[in-house]
Amino acid sequence: VSAVPSEVVVVGGGPAGVAAAIAAATVGARVLLLDEGARPGGQVYRQLPAGLRARAGDRLGREQREGRALMAGLAETGVTVWSGAEVWGIFPERLVAIYRAGRARRIQAGGLVLAPGAYERPVAFPGWTLPGVLTAGGAATLVRAQRVLPGRRVVLAGTGPLLLTAAVALVRGGAEVAGVATAASRASLAGMLRRWSGGGPDLLETLRRAGVPVWPRHGIVRAEGHEGVERVVIARWDAAWRPLAGTARSIPADTLCLGYGLVPATELAQLAGCEVIYDPGRGGWVPAADPERLMVTTVPGVFVAGDGAGVAGVAVAREQGRLAGLGAARFAGRLDGRAAGRARAALRRLEALGPLRRSLERMLFPRPALADLVTDETVICRCEDVLASEVRAAIADGARLVTEIRAGTRCGMGLCQGRLCVPTVALLLQRWAGVWPGEAGRLTARPPVRPIPVAALADEALAD
Ligand SMILES: Cc1cc2nc3c(=O)[nH]c(=O)nc-3n(C[C@H](O)[C@H](O)[C@H](O)COP(=O)(O)OP(=O)(O)OC[C@H]3O[C@@H](n4cnc5c(N)ncnc54)[C@H](O)[C@@H]3O)c2cc1C
Repeated sequence: VSAVPSEVVVVGGGPAGVAAAIAAATVGARVLLLDEGARPGGQVYRQLPAGLRARAGDRLGREQREGRALMAGLAETGVTVWSGAEVWGIFPERLVAIYRAGRARRIQAGGLVLAPGAYERPVAFPGWTLPGVLTAGGAATLVRAQRVLPGRRVVLAGTGPLLLTAAVALVRGGAEVAGVATAASRASLAGMLRRWSGGGPDLLETLRRAGVPVWPRHGIVRAEGHEGVERVVIARWDAAWRPLAGTARSIPADTLCLGYGLVPATELAQLAGCEVIYDPGRGGWVPAADPERLMVTTVPGVFVAGDGAGVAGVAVAREQGRLAGLGAARFAGRLDGRAAGRARAALRRLEALGPLRRSLERMLFPRPALADLVTDETVICRCEDVLASEVRAAIADGARLVTEIRAGTRCGMGLCQGRLCVPTVALLLQRWAGVWPGEAGRLTARPPVRPIPVAALADEALAD
């Protein structure tokens, strides 16, 4: 166990983790921030790698600038930042297992804040495994952090604001965006964007000026092509996300970006022993935590914040981060007279974000009809090559839990540890067997949650 002095350890350097680290440091705690990226910033504020520099007047620079301001706060408050640090496990009593620079080590946290963000929700349909199909956030990250376009002519399909921010990043990066099919109606999209902190109405205006059509109440049907995507078929959808007969149309494109919402990353919270509950509006399984109690989980000393505590966007992530940072500092014995006032202010701001959260929840929760896109030949688990017909057979044999589907088909036994297929399996169980995803259960999280070399573990054991 390393002797690094850290009264508070924060896992995740996105808006939530950075806010938590700064809040804890400003009440006097010694804070260690761990993030697996090359630099902190998380998804929205992902910085260019050290060797890349953008030209003056770079149109992709807004998030970079905001991100740099956030990083400056870390430096001012004296937070120790370890970038390139993968947290691969949490053991009892807040022992944090890290792999960094070829070395494994464990750190004892006083107060522990988990802010690992979310994954993009996978959606299975005919053609989803073709080269050229990727997630909207992944495409935006390619453009923002590497200045690389995923393709030449792009169609985006999905729901929520991330779809539009990705479309704008692609336009600014120079891609031809053939159109954006969004499941939301025009009115609910406009309403949500007015409340959204990321310059919502500007997104639509930027797309309009670039001549990019936005098709409300439309969604994906399939992707077609031989070696990669050649055409994307979309259709009009009803409010339950069912394609309307006779409305399908085919759009020539070499790239399809999907953004049907996010799934909170809860593995670390589960390893820490935190209770998780099912909340479809916030992305699925989330650790139980109460803002009024500074985002503490069911495990004393373990706090959560941001999309990993339930998907709700940057503004909510920041306020929850502040609360969790204050909570972790207090747990570590840093009692500061200013903390209570700061927590009350963060709670008030969080309360004010309620309407935005509710409109995001309505927009993002996955409708069961998404499962109707799947045919028997559709691949469900890419790691283990499991087809929908095999999942259907397992259900016919009586499987009602995602763990039973895994046992019967190997779905979720591959390298991604179920992150790519289990949300789809839960959807199929809901549609085909009437099992609510909260009843279908989840896979048990097991260390290591990131692949690490066995040699590093052996070295750590020998050093002990
Ligand atoms: C690919 C993607 C792109 C997105 N793009 C946008 C966007 O353009 N605009 C927008 O408003 N929202 C975007 N979002 C949503 C956005 O991430 C959130 O609303 C917001 O950033 C949440 O902040 P956070 O701090 O909770 O998580 P994040 O910003 O996701 O930060 C979490 C951080 O934790 C790190 N981490 C996770 N697990 C570990 C681990 N085991 N060990 C070490 N580090 C770990 C991650 O690398 C990441 O840096 C995106 C989400 C995704 C998944």
